[in-house]
Amino acid sequence: MSNLQLGKSKSLIGSLIVTLYNRFALSLCPKLVCVMRFYAGMWGSSLPAKVKITMWRIMNNYLPTYANLQARRLNVINCCPLCKREAENIEHIMRECVFVKELLETQRIPLTTQDADVPWKEWLALAFARLTPTWRHALMITYWTVWYARNKPWTSPGSARA
Ligand SMILES: [Zn+2]
Repeated sequence: MSNLQLGKSKSLIGSLIVTLYNRFALSLCPKLVCVMRFYAGMWGSSLPAKVKITMWRIMNNYLPTYANLQARRLNVINCCPLCKREAENIEHIMRECVFVKELLETQRIPLTTQDADVPWKEWLALAFARLTPTWRHALMITYWTVWYARNKPWTSPGSARA
C-alpha cells in the first residue's frame, strides 16, 4: 500500500470515527452541548472572519432584519421584500423564505426543515451538528451570501442595513 493510499485510508477512518462520534454524542446531546459544538465548529473553520461573524450574528439573531428593526421602533415595514408573504425575521430569511429554500436545494445542502417549532438558536445548532464539515462550510457561505444579497449594497447605495 502506497503512502498516498495509506493517507486516504487514515483520512476515511478518521472521518468515519468523527461521524460515529457525532451521531453518538447527538443522541445524548442536550441543546447546550449542541450550541457549544456549533460555536467550536463555526469559529474553528478556515472561512474568512466576515463569514464567521455573520454566522454568529445569524445564530444570535443580531442581524438588522426588518422584524428586528421594527422591534427597535424603527419605522419600517417588516414584510419580506423578496416573497412578500411573511415578516422578514431570521427564521424566515434563513429557513422559510421560498428563495432560501430554493437556494439550499440547488446547492443540495442537506439542511433539515424538521423541528422548525424549536427556538431558532437551538434549531440551527442541531441542523449544523448534523452536517459534515464540508456542508457546514457550504451552509455558512450560503448564509453569508443570502444576507449580503438581501442588502444589495451594489444596487442601492446607502440602503445596506449593516
Ligand atoms: Zn421571503
